[in-house]
Amino acid sequence: MIKAVVGANWGDEGKGKITDMLAEKADIIVRFQGGANAGHTIVNDYGKFALHTLPSGVFYGHTTSVIGNGVALNIPVFFKEYNEVVSKGVPAPKILISDRAQMVMPYHILFDQYEEERLGGKSFGSTKSGIAPFYSDKYAKIGFQVNELFDEDRLKEKLASVCETKNVLLEHLYHKPLLNVDELFAELMEYKKMVAPYVCDVSLYLNNALKEGKEILLEGQLGTLKDPDHGIYPMVTSSSTLAAYGAIGAGVPPYEIQKIVVVSKAYSSAVGAGAFVSEIFGEEADELRRRGGDGGEYGATTGRPRRMGWYDCVASKYGCRLQGATDVAFTVLDVLGYLDEIPVCVAYDIDGEITTDFPTTAKLEKAKPVIEKLPGWKCDIRGIKNYEDLPENCRKYIEFIEEKIGYPITMVSNGPGRNDIIYRNK
Ligand code: GDP
Repeated sequence: MIKAVVGANWGDEGKGKITDMLAEKADIIVRFQGGANAGHTIVNDYGKFALHTLPSGVFYGHTTSVIGNGVALNIPVFFKEYNEVVSKGVPAPKILISDRAQMVMPYHILFDQYEEERLGGKSFGSTKSGIAPFYSDKYAKIGFQVNELFDEDRLKEKLASVCETKNVLLEHLYHKPLLNVDELFAELMEYKKMVAPYVCDVSLYLNNALKEGKEILLEGQLGTLKDPDHGIYPMVTSSSTLAAYGAIGAGVPPYEIQKIVVVSKAYSSAVGAGAFVSEIFGEEADELRRRGGDGGEYGATTGRPRRMGWYDCVASKYGCRLQGATDVAFTVLDVLGYLDEIPVCVAYDIDGEITTDFPTTAKLEKAKPVIEKLPGWKCDIRGIKNYEDLPENCRKYIEFIEEKIGYPITMVSNGPGRNDIIYRNK
């Protein structure tokens, strides 16, 4: 059976921690989309790790970590991360890489930088990891799959042809140095040496594993609102962040995804540009940012301070619906223990019309938050293991939000560690 762990919001909801936790009982953990443009922070017995491309199951000896075909695979970044994890004492993880995964090419990163430079103030706030140029090339059918590294003559021919078009843009649009086919080819041969031991037909492997009754976890990156179709287009990422895409990005039957754990943080944060209706500013935001997550809300990949806001029931209800939530994991709740009152965005006011349905981007930009305030619980809830032992106002906060979003909160995370979790039977 397959479980997906995905985000309800803008990413950074704490998916890494939930995946790491659920991985204890899983056999295989699969990344199915995205690349090294976002990160998960994981705290466990080995220390604190910021993972960007490695699946969050790498810390267990019994799991296999898989890079699915839907991932934007940056090979040097992947192996740098792999080596870092091993150098901190984690036993060498078992890794498999899909022969159909496409590679982030060195020029994708350059094009990402050049385009942001060219757009200046109108840029998308890219992390400049090459993800948008990568997916553009994938769908323009000029991307490179990992298996292409193993047919050198064909590879060289295709590289020459792709470089020809890239060089036109580099010369005339960006006014930057041109690509050299031989240098690129030599670099790809280095990539080949790195990946060769791990490449396989991942879809076949996963389908066989399902027949053997193995448990598979699909690990999503970012969240619903960054999905290119259902998110806040164009301030979105370039691959689908939805659990449904897990079937495609891993090559498994959609009906096998039986549990969809949607992670939603007890307040909001976002990185990059785009409408963020419940956003707060000034000292109020600084304090939440400082206290947030585990050591502050700063991007795991970029170190950028995250934009902060109160919990947004409209966005989260939508986020859970598009993911098809069977379970909601409500995270980082412990952080809110300092507040006398906790504001929650319960609806949007768009030109005087009140709605709880998440709108398209142009309307979203006009939306003002309708705020309700709930009483705080004013104490530290870390260490609590049973739902009934949470302070009454804390339970009321959870139940209020559960009612507004309309999906069952079956897990409450009250600390960054693996064991900081409260299960609720629903
Ligand atoms: P992801 O990309 O969705 O995995 O999220 P991030 O890793 O960017 O952000 C989650 C941050 O919150 C990390 O620093 C986690 O260690 C931390 N975290 C996760 N769950 C909890 C929690 O319940 N309480 C606290 N205080 N921190 C948490």
